[in-house]
Amino acid sequence: MKLALSPDEVAFRDELRRFYRTEIPAEIRDKVEYGRELTRDEIVTSHKILHEHGLAVPNWPAQWGGKDWTPVQRHIWEDEMQLASVPEPLTFNANMIGPVIAQFGSQELKERFLPPTAALDIWWCQGFSEPDAGSDLASLRTTAVRDGDSYIVNGQKIWTTLAQYADWIFCLVRTDPNAPKKQAGISLLLFDVNTPGVTIRPIKLIDGHHEVNEVFFENVRVPADQLVGEENMGWTYAKFLLGNERTGITGVGRTKVRLAVAKKYAAQTNVGGGTLLADPLFAARVAELENELLALELTLLRVVANSSEGKPNPASSVLKLRGTELQQAATELLLDVAGPDALPVGADDIASPDWAQRTGPGYLNYRKTTIYGGSSEVQRTIIASTILGL
Ligand SMILES: Cc1cc2nc3c(=O)[nH]c(=O)nc-3n(C[C@H](O)[C@H](O)[C@H](O)COP(=O)(O)OP(=O)(O)OC[C@H]3O[C@@H](n4cnc5c(N)ncnc54)[C@H](O)[C@@H]3O)c2cc1C
Repeated sequence: MKLALSPDEVAFRDELRRFYRTEIPAEIRDKVEYGRELTRDEIVTSHKILHEHGLAVPNWPAQWGGKDWTPVQRHIWEDEMQLASVPEPLTFNANMIGPVIAQFGSQELKERFLPPTAALDIWWCQGFSEPDAGSDLASLRTTAVRDGDSYIVNGQKIWTTLAQYADWIFCLVRTDPNAPKKQAGISLLLFDVNTPGVTIRPIKLIDGHHEVNEVFFENVRVPADQLVGEENMGWTYAKFLLGNERTGITGVGRTKVRLAVAKKYAAQTNVGGGTLLADPLFAARVAELENELLALELTLLRVVANSSEGKPNPASSVLKLRGTELQQAATELLLDVAGPDALPVGADDIASPDWAQRTGPGYLNYRKTTIYGGSSEVQRTIIASTILGL
């Protein structure tokens, strides 16, 4: 089964296909295709090229740089971008805080933050999780106490992705410790990470890279006009943001690229009398993954088509759960294609090909995907209660 596109949609797709492959530097796309780490500059360069052509934040309201595209056009925009191995617009800006400010922020906040957020002149990071508040996010303990025209913030965040590159943080804080429900006393504050009292410390991940951080707040003074929406309404905004985050994690196009890379190298790997790609067991594994991916793609289209403004769609949990499982399956496939060549990770003097040496760290790194954005167990609970009504 294939998605049938109208002639206009085909023209739209072909134009984007051409744009992504000619306007975004090949060195950047090559790095994405083969799973190499991008520098901050490369991420900013790619985002800015998209932005200059109106392609960074099509999901935003048109007034703030969005496009009145159909769900199918939105899907084509994202799928073609992933297929061309273009880095997606910085998710903290484009999918997380931008849509929240556009939906819930005051006019003043919108004017101040939306243009630089769309242009990636401000790099945002997400200050939600804490050492004892991950799945149970509403237990967060970082406090913000009102003091005149400011809030004084104290506490700690953890797993803050790319905070080392960030200019600003959007941060969930407890403003009412006595609220009857813990969800009711939470607010969303925006502040510069260079404010006195903010300390960022790196955490090394299982693949050896520095991707996440701990962020500490000690008497950080934040102007009260940097509160999003209303005080103590932060939980509503957080749920909206997490729904967008989960849908964004699906990554169908990226997994297609990873499968294509695995097939390319499998075709060059000899086993018995033929290639690994021709091996019936391997071919069956690839076919199954491709079918699962197609099913996910069609589900994604349905979710995008039925999402109503401002409301989190619980189906985003299905996309997050299944999308990350397939991402992991693809990294596992690639690791298996590399075989023993995957083992000498980071060794300069070993002759195994560079792509094979990267499959080990890639496989390990992708273990994260079933944890971040809400773990698989948490997604299953949401699906059971809100979709299946159990
Ligand atoms: C690579 C990476 C990047 C991240 N980036 C960010 C970021 O930028 N900003 C940010 O705020 N956070 C970020 N996170 C944090 C992420 O959202 C949390 O790790 C996640 O929500 C899980 O929380 P936890 O780590 O505290 O685990 P816990 O909540 O302690 O969970 C531990 C285990 O228990 C299970 N579990 C917990 N509760 C239940 C339940 N009710 N039912 C069944 N099982 C349950 C979980 O599924 C998990 O297996 C990131 C995490 C990772 C790994």
